[in-house]
Amino acid sequence: MTQWVHPFATGTAADRYLLGGKGANLAEMTKAGLPVPPGFTLGTTACHAFYDSGETLPETMWTEVQSAVQALEQETEKSFGGAVNPLLVSVRSGAPISMPGMMDTVLNLGLNDTTVRALAAQTGNDRFAFDCYRRFIQMFGDVVQSIPHYQFEHILDDVKSDVGAKDDQALTAEDWQRVIAGYRKLVERETGKAFPQDPYDQLRLAIEAVFRSWNNQRAIIYRRVHKIADDLGTAVNVQSMVFGNMGDNSGTGVAFTRNPSTGEPSVFGEYLTNAQGEDVVAGIRTPKPIAELAHDMPEIYTQFLQVCEQLEAHYRDVQDIEFTVEEGKLFLLQTRNAKRTAAAAVKIAVALVEEGKIDKATAVSRVDPDQLDQLLHPGIDPNAPVDELARGLPASPGAASGRITFDADEAEQWSKQGEAVLLVRTETTPEDIHGILAAQGILTSRGGMTSHAAVVARGMGKPCVCGCDALTINTRDGYARIGDRTLRKGDVISIDGATGRVLLGEVVRVQAELSADFQALLSWADEIRQLGVRANADNPEDATRARGFGAEGIGLCRTEHMFMAAERVPVVQAMILASTPTERGQALAALLPMQQDDFYGILKAMDGLPVTIRLLDPPLHEFLPNLEQLVTRQAVLQTRLQYENGAARTLIEQELADVSNLLGKVRQLHELNPMLGHRGCRLGITFPEVYEMQARAIFQATADLQKEGLNPQPEVMIPLVGVREELRRMKELVETTARSVEAETGQTLPCVIGTMIEVPRAALTADEIAEEAEFFSFGTNDLTQTTFGYSRDDAEGKFLHHYTTEKILPENPFAVLDATGVGQLIQIATQKGRSVRNDLKLGICGEHGGEKQSIHFCQVQGLNYVSCSPFRVPLARLAAAHAALVDPRT
Ligand code: PEP
Ligand code: MG
Repeated sequence: MTQWVHPFATGTAADRYLLGGKGANLAEMTKAGLPVPPGFTLGTTACHAFYDSGETLPETMWTEVQSAVQALEQETEKSFGGAVNPLLVSVRSGAPISMPGMMDTVLNLGLNDTTVRALAAQTGNDRFAFDCYRRFIQMFGDVVQSIPHYQFEHILDDVKSDVGAKDDQALTAEDWQRVIAGYRKLVERETGKAFPQDPYDQLRLAIEAVFRSWNNQRAIIYRRVHKIADDLGTAVNVQSMVFGNMGDNSGTGVAFTRNPSTGEPSVFGEYLTNAQGEDVVAGIRTPKPIAELAHDMPEIYTQFLQVCEQLEAHYRDVQDIEFTVEEGKLFLLQTRNAKRTAAAAVKIAVALVEEGKIDKATAVSRVDPDQLDQLLHPGIDPNAPVDELARGLPASPGAASGRITFDADEAEQWSKQGEAVLLVRTETTPEDIHGILAAQGILTSRGGMTSHAAVVARGMGKPCVCGCDALTINTRDGYARIGDRTLRKGDVISIDGATGRVLLGEVVRVQAELSADFQALLSWADEIRQLGVRANADNPEDATRARGFGAEGIGLCRTEHMFMAAERVPVVQAMILASTPTERGQALAALLPMQQDDFYGILKAMDGLPVTIRLLDPPLHEFLPNLEQLVTRQAVLQTRLQYENGAARTLIEQELADVSNLLGKVRQLHELNPMLGHRGCRLGITFPEVYEMQARAIFQATADLQKEGLNPQPEVMIPLVGVREELRRMKELVETTARSVEAETGQTLPCVIGTMIEVPRAALTADEIAEEAEFFSFGTNDLTQTTFGYSRDDAEGKFLHHYTTEKILPENPFAVLDATGVGQLIQIATQKGRSVRNDLKLGICGEHGGEKQSIHFCQVQGLNYVSCSPFRVPLARLAAAHAALVDPRT
C-alpha cells in the first residue's frame, strides 16, 4: 500500500481532490483503455507533506517515487538514465480545480550527456535528440533553478545569428550542441554547480519545484480572483514522454470536442506537425486548424474524432484534449472539461440535453450564474476593427460608446440633449450619481472592482471600466491623456466592460438578447427553484425590462430616485425648506401628482404582480445643495458686496439673503453621521405629511388602474424600523390614507404593509415587529453596515480591500452576505417573525439578492424570494435553481 504515489492505472475521476484534475482524468482515460502514456501521480496530500517538511520531499515519499519509476521502466521497457532506450518523463502540476498555465511543468526529464546520445542513436536523429536536451536544460533552468528565460533566449539568438539561421528549424545537430554548451555554462555561472546529470536528482528537484509553484505569485493571484482555496495544494504527474517532434509523421495539438467560444458542435482546435506541446503555445510557428489533420494524417484524424466522441460521452461534457502523435501513433496527454464562454456554456448545456446525454437539472447546474452577465449586456461586435487605447478593470460588463465628459452635470446636460455620453472621472462619488445615471458608461482612472463607480454601474447594469492607470485627467482644462494620446472633452471613445478595454471612436455593438437556448435553460431553472425572484426597480422601463427577464414582481421600489429628477428637485427643496405647514402642504401637493404618475407606470408594468414600494428613506439634506459650496458662495458674495453699489449691490444682497437662508437650513439638517441619522421611518415619524403624500399617491394610482380593469398589487414598505412602535404608527398612517382614498374613489384597495429589517434591533425584536408587519424584507446593505459598524462608502474606499487581501475577512461583506454574522440576524428574525405570524412573507432586497452565494443562504433560511437589479434577474433564477439542487427544501 503506497501512501503518496498513485499509478494512473489505479485512480478514477472521482479522486480529483487527491489526484488533481489532470491526474484524475489521466487515470480515468487509462482505465477506459485510451492510449495514455503510462505514469503516476503524487497526490495533493504529498504536496501538503512537502510543505510540512520545510519544502522538501520526505524520505518515505522519495522511496515510493523511486519504486514507481522502476515500475514505469518495466512497463515501458525503457531505463531511466539508460545508455540504450532511455526513459524520459514529463513532470507536470495538476490542481483539483484547473488553473491553466499558472503552475510549472518540466518536459524531457532524464536527458543527460549519456541519454541524449542514446536517444539520438535510437531515433537515428541527432538533431531531434539535441533539440530535446536543450529544451530540457532551458525548462529545468527556468522552473527549477530560477534562471530567467531570456538568458537562455540570448544564447540561442547568438548561435542563430552566428550561423545565419532565420528560425529554430534551420539549426543543425551541431548548432544545438553549441547552444547546449552555452546553456550549461549559464547554469554553472548562475547556480555555481554543473547541470545535474543524475536523472533521479533531476526528478527530485523538478517535483519539488512543481510543488513550490503552487505558491508562485501568479497562482496566488489566480486563486484569489477565482476564489480557489489556498490549502487545496497541487498534485504532480510524472508521465513517460512521447515525442511529437520526431518527424513529419509526428505532431502535437490541442482540441475541444465542441467550439468553446460559440458552442457549435464540431471539433475545434489546432496542431503542429513535428513539434512539442510548448511550440503550439509559444506561437513561434502558426498551428493549423484541426480539420487539416484529415489530409496530413487521415487515420489519426479518424481515430481522434472517435476519441473525442468517446471522451465527451464518458464525461458527458465538452472536453479540452491535449494529444501527441509519435511516429504515426496517437497518445492522449490530458483531457479536462473545457472552459467556455457564457454563450457556449448555455448552448452546450441545452444541446447535451437534446442529445440525451444529460438531464435538465444537470444542464442547469452546468452554467455558472456569474457568467450570465456576459450575455445580458450589449457587447462589441467581435468582427469589428478596434483601436485599443488602454485597459482597465472590467468592472461592469457591456459595451458603451459616447462623447466624453469629465463632469457629472455636463453628462446630464448632454444626455438631455439626446447625446450618448461617457462619464470619465478619476473616481466617482455619490454626488456624481445623476451623471452616472445619464451616461452610457463610466470610465475611471482609479478605484477597484468594488469602487463606487463599479458598484453603482453594476447595480444599474451600465458598462464600467475602472482603475485604468494609463489614464490621467485634467478636469480643469478639459482633457485626458492615455499614453501619448490626448482626448478632449467631447471626443468619442468606447469602453468594453467585459474585458476592460478602452477604445478610440465608436464601435459596432451587438444587442444582447435572451437566445432560445437561454430561455429554455432558464425555464428549466424555474421548474427547479423554490425561491421567488423579484427585481429592484423604480421606474416603468426597469420594471418592464425586469419582467422581460422573468421577474415575478418588484421587491424594492426606492422612491427617493423619483425625487432626484432635475425638474422635481426645486419642488422637493421647497418642501424641505418650507417654514410653515401651509408652505410644506403646497409643495407636497405639487409632488403628489408626479409620484402618482410614477406609481401608476410601475404598477401597470407589473400588473398582477406584487410591487413593494418603500417610503422615503434617505436624509433630507441629500436633496439640498452641498454645504461647502454654499459656504464658498456666501463668502464670494460677501466679498463682492464690498465693491458694488446701486442696482448690482441690491441683486447681490438678494442672492446673499437667499444663500444665507439656504445655508441655515442646510446647517440645520446637516448630520455628523447621516447613515445613522435622521432617515428612514424616523423621517416619516417627524414629517408624517411626506409619508402620507406617498401613500396617497400609491393608493390613488392603484384605484386608477383598478378602474381600467387592471390588477395592481402594491405593498407598502416602511424603512429602517428598529422599534415596533415606529412601525405601528406608520402603519396606522398608511391604513388611514388607504381608507380615505377608498372613500374618495369607491374602490376596495389592497393594503399590504410590511417593513425592512436593516438594523440589528429590528432583527432581535422581530417577534414584536411581526405583530405589525405582513412581510419583512431584509435590507442587507444597511444590515451589513449596522452589524459590522462599517459605513459602506468609507469601508470600501479605505480598508475593505486590505481586509480581504489580508484575509481578515474572506469576502467583501457588501458583495457576499456575511452568513456568520449578518446571516445570524436574518436567521433570528426569520424564526422570531414566523413564530408570531407563520405566513410572514420574507424577502431580501439588498445587493446580496443578486449574488449566488447569498442566494444560496436565502434558500437555506427558507426565505420566500430574493430581489435584485433587473439585469441580475436571470442570474438569480439560475442561482436559485442551483441552491435548490444542492439544498432542496422539503
Ligand atoms: C438595504 O439597505 O439593503 C436596502 C436595500 O436599502 P438601501 O440600499 O436603499 O439603503
Ligand atoms: Mg437600506
